[in-house]
Amino acid sequence: MRASKFYIATIKEAPNDAEIVSHKLMMRAGLIKRLAGGIYTLMPMGLRVVRKVENIVREEMNRAGAVELVMPVVQPAELWQESGRWQQYGAELLRFKDRHDRDFVFQPTSEEVITDIARNELKSYRQLPKNFYQVQTKFRDERRPRFGVMRGREFVMKDAYSFHADFDGLKAEYENMFGAYTRIFNRLGLKFRSVAADTGSIGGTGSHEFHVLADSGEDALAFAPASDYAANVELAEALAPATSRGTPAGGMQKVPTPNKKTCEEVVEQLEMPLTRSVKAIALMHEPGNETADKAAPKRFFMLLLRGDHALNEIKAGKVEGLSPFRFASEAEIRDYVGCEPGYIGPVGLDPKRVTIVADRSVAVMNDFVCGANDAGYHLVNVNWGRDLPEPAVVADIRNVIKGDPSPDGKGELDICRGIEVGHIFQLRTKYSKALDAKVIGVDGKPTLMEMGCYGIGITRIVGAAIEQGNDERGIVFPAAIAPFEVAICPIGIKKSDAVREAAEKLYAELTAAGIDVLLDDRDERPGVMFADMELIGIPHRLTIGDRGLKEGKIEYQARTDAGATAIAPTEALALIQSKLKS
Ligand code: ATP
Ligand code: MG
Repeated sequence: MRASKFYIATIKEAPNDAEIVSHKLMMRAGLIKRLAGGIYTLMPMGLRVVRKVENIVREEMNRAGAVELVMPVVQPAELWQESGRWQQYGAELLRFKDRHDRDFVFQPTSEEVITDIARNELKSYRQLPKNFYQVQTKFRDERRPRFGVMRGREFVMKDAYSFHADFDGLKAEYENMFGAYTRIFNRLGLKFRSVAADTGSIGGTGSHEFHVLADSGEDALAFAPASDYAANVELAEALAPATSRGTPAGGMQKVPTPNKKTCEEVVEQLEMPLTRSVKAIALMHEPGNETADKAAPKRFFMLLLRGDHALNEIKAGKVEGLSPFRFASEAEIRDYVGCEPGYIGPVGLDPKRVTIVADRSVAVMNDFVCGANDAGYHLVNVNWGRDLPEPAVVADIRNVIKGDPSPDGKGELDICRGIEVGHIFQLRTKYSKALDAKVIGVDGKPTLMEMGCYGIGITRIVGAAIEQGNDERGIVFPAAIAPFEVAICPIGIKKSDAVREAAEKLYAELTAAGIDVLLDDRDERPGVMFADMELIGIPHRLTIGDRGLKEGKIEYQARTDAGATAIAPTEALALIQSKLKS
């Protein structure tokens, strides 16, 4: 490609809304242009990266035996009503009407449509297993679109759906996809980790996420250095403490703690460790539209966590009777507890009105500190069974932290951060049941198909790769997904025939060898050319100038090299080929 024909859209300053380095660099390198919140144009340079990611994903999906199709982005509401997700999906699902007043959605994912295809097309177990995939635009009206294409509203996903005659078939395909994903992320040149994951709103049983490791990642991952245990913190179990509850040391006392509303403030005043305090979180169970029993009453829950622990909302959602829940309002807290937030606690409450849920760690505490249900006061030396009844529910409702024992019993957990780029699920019969998708089984009887689904965030991968690969000069792309593999930078191409001829010759030679080359024939000053190529993250650069040519030399520099190396023009092809191979 010649730069003069192509379109280089680099800019000096990233816009103010770009918070993280990948978003800033994608904007500065001109890979994307913002159209609206979470909606971006993929500029020619950005599209090349996306296509390279797609190609690797396609090759490995095909190699793993999946077959490509493309489903419509616009899908009729009826299918979503049939699965129940028309009600469940919430505001992320973009819904609209056509001119006949019929409801439609813009696909955020395609379980419904593929299951509809499967129930119409697949008749017998003999046609199974089948794995269909597409690379298609998705729309999710994210509450907080941010980080550019990393959490966009419109984005590209590879989504695959597999169909099986039995659970064993699904498990085998799940393993197959796990292997394919591992190959994909290795080929993309990313540092990643696969972790056990929650199944979220898609539902089902087994699930793994693939995360690109980066400090800016939105997800916390728990892993055990001593074993292969790895799970999203959303899911990672906090084991019940091995120690049992100690015996009470002193009597319960009410102490004034004016204006001290957080555990941190209270323990500072009382000169105690944070691990002796208990924080109370007020939640309201409120059956929503999605619940059959709309008339079921609201229920007030008080969740108790050790002061240094954080609530895990996904785990809380699994406490019996709590889901669906929301945080209680201040008025509700006053109504059920009789006190303003900041001073609430579990002592002296009516168990008929307030359900106490203690985290496993809280259940073994003694002589703890908590709110007194009286503004400006806390209680110290509080003890279960003496000052208040044993908790109604004891459950794992907190996030694990570094140093917690690993759930597999092997050593301690550590925490790192990741960007979710892939997710595989065993859906089982969730959708086949809802849409009545059956085949004739081995026994001759109609049987529901077992299903798996497998997603990869194509556009998110571009952002994630840049989070992992960047320096003060710009993007450092893995060669496999860089928009071009090599940049040829001729200095003074319009002035010097020798430079132009050498550049054209090299360009022809590398291109003929199948190398993806950008010839910078814009006649820019060297500083501008180098800065652009470095910002864009092209992994290899060949610089041609009059002075060098007189000595029979050109210059080679890798994106990560500190300086250039003089080479003979005839050596360039072999050098680049060997670099691209390694
Ligand atoms: P997240 O937890 O990040 O919201 P998700 O679990 O809702 O993602 P899935 O339904 O598992 O996402 O979608 C499959 C893949 O699509 C994800 O692993 C991710 O790589 C990508 N993806 C999801 N939402 C977005 C988004 N808003 N922008 C870009 N990519 C996304
Ligand atoms: Mg996911």
